[in-house]
Amino acid sequence: MPALLLQGEPIAERLLVGLREEAKGLVAAGRAPRLAALYVGENRASRLYMKKQREACSALGIGYETAALPVESTEEEVLAEVRRLNNDARVSGIIVQMPVPPHIDSRRLRLHLDPAKDVEGMHPESMGRLVYGTSTLAPCTASAAVELARSVRPSFAGLDVTIVGHSETVGKAIALLLLQSPFESATPTVCHVATRDLAAHTRRADVLFVAVGKAGLVRGDMIKPGATVIDIGINHVDVLDERGMPVLEGGKTARRIVGDVLFEEAANVCAHITPVPGGVGPLTVVMLIRNTIECAKGIDRRRDSVSH
Ligand code: NAP
Repeated sequence: MPALLLQGEPIAERLLVGLREEAKGLVAAGRAPRLAALYVGENRASRLYMKKQREACSALGIGYETAALPVESTEEEVLAEVRRLNNDARVSGIIVQMPVPPHIDSRRLRLHLDPAKDVEGMHPESMGRLVYGTSTLAPCTASAAVELARSVRPSFAGLDVTIVGHSETVGKAIALLLLQSPFESATPTVCHVATRDLAAHTRRADVLFVAVGKAGLVRGDMIKPGATVIDIGINHVDVLDERGMPVLEGGKTARRIVGDVLFEEAANVCAHITPVPGGVGPLTVVMLIRNTIECAKGIDRRRDSVSH
């Protein structure tokens, strides 16, 4: 039987209903959430993501602003902008758009963010809270992926979960999110480039998360029958005709977006699978909004507990 398609949009809509109410309550209490995006240089993907952020904020009555700096800005100039946003009492959350130009150390930028405004959950303090199991601000893509899996697996207790890819913001963060509760935790295995037999690990996963950035990395025969497959990868590949030749569009090779999992093969084996695009993507911005609201709610408490 073909797998059930796990689309992000309906889950996003459901979550937004609750977030809209929370945002309304905060506005009424004089603690209006406001998201600021720090953007250095020029990047098409960042522009698209900021457009989505602005639309989502505006739909929920959340304030939104961008702080754009030219590509030639020095690291000190960018850090000064981070400090300005940290000290702006109207701003509840700050997102640093990636990538930043190569002469700027993105880790140093994140280190200078006020952790109480860390809507991406990437400050070491946020990561530390994730390890402690007291996190309220987790990395958005990881939260989105776990939220999708949770929509069909309400409890992870006793499940074998394999995560392919161990980046700080996606793979490692998913593993930590799955270990938050002593009674509900899954048993995660995290695979990476040095993993000896990837298929041996993916084949025993009840839930499989794949976040690598390699089209076709996971084939149907690497998946356990009945598994839940969350494909986070985004890859731009050529569109091929039935003879395997590139299809031309307007004189150029046509391109399409695919994930890391061979969808057609996987969908015949697993029970649930995310489409790419349309799975994790639509939920990522919702997690960003959720974190912005968390920041607006908790900013005083968190500031009281840690001095900066
Ligand atoms: P990343 O930082 O490049 O990490 C990729 C990970 O994959 C690394 O841990 C790498 O391991 C591992 N890897 C590479 N080749 C492998 C292999 N053959 N087998 C097993 N693991 C392998 O990328 P990322 O930021 O985590 O993103 C991963 C993918 O998710 C990308 O396609 C990205 O575009 C996509 N993404 C999607 C969203 C969304 O909203 N949908 C958001 C963020 C990212 P080593 O470090 O050991 O080399």
